[in-house]
Amino acid sequence: MIITNTKTYEDTYKHKGLRIQLVSQLRDRGITDEKILGAISFIPRHWFLDNAFTEHAYQDKAFDIGQEQTISQPYMVALQTQLLSVKPKQKILEIGTGSAYQAVMLAYMGAEVYSVEIDPVLHESAKNMLKVLDDKLHKGTSFFQKNIKLFLADGTQGLPDFAPFDGILVTAGAPEMPEPYLMQVLKGGSIIIPIGTAKKQKINRFTRVDTNEFVREQLEDCSFVPLLGENGWGKTK
Ligand code: SAH
Repeated sequence: MIITNTKTYEDTYKHKGLRIQLVSQLRDRGITDEKILGAISFIPRHWFLDNAFTEHAYQDKAFDIGQEQTISQPYMVALQTQLLSVKPKQKILEIGTGSAYQAVMLAYMGAEVYSVEIDPVLHESAKNMLKVLDDKLHKGTSFFQKNIKLFLADGTQGLPDFAPFDGILVTAGAPEMPEPYLMQVLKGGSIIIPIGTAKKQKINRFTRVDTNEFVREQLEDCSFVPLLGENGWGKTK
């Protein structure tokens, strides 16, 4: 017997209405950047989840995307993006492609995104997701495929061949700051990274104020999946 897992890509008025509600919740929680809120109301988040979870896509919660990984909670995606204060044309390095939702948000806001994933299955499905989005939302152009470059690698090394970046966004929890990131962000740019234990972290922002000087801010509590790899929790896939 062949079971085909058909995924439908509809975006109904109901979905759009749920996104408007989500945007208003995020606004109440302190997300004020209209470009971020605009991205959230544009991107069909339910396409990044299994059809079975469509109903949950617009609750402000993290969700399983297979391979023991999650699509981050919309509030965390928005908060980290706001902390990065991304501007059009900036080069942004994202660690942990996952479902590609965060990368798509950054590209929608005009960034040139370099996103690294350690898990081959997620890396492949992210590639496919970009194709789907281009087909469905950009009438067959390759906007997302052009503006998001996907890499299968241990992201705790950064991407030395493509550095420097205007900003670095880490979407998995690290035990400490991976050293290689420090030299890969431009002066004036920031690294946003959850740091703490494997289960609980705080969002940290390190801003490079001078060649050898960073200002560190320790911000909100959060709970991301562990950052694996050499300069993370060590294990690899
Ligand atoms: N940004 C994602 C959420 C990612 S969850 C989204 O928008 O959906 C964290 C991701 O980091 C997982 O997909 C996990 O496989 C990946 N990851 C963990 N350690 C990594 C590493 N060292 N390098 C690259 N990706 C890593």
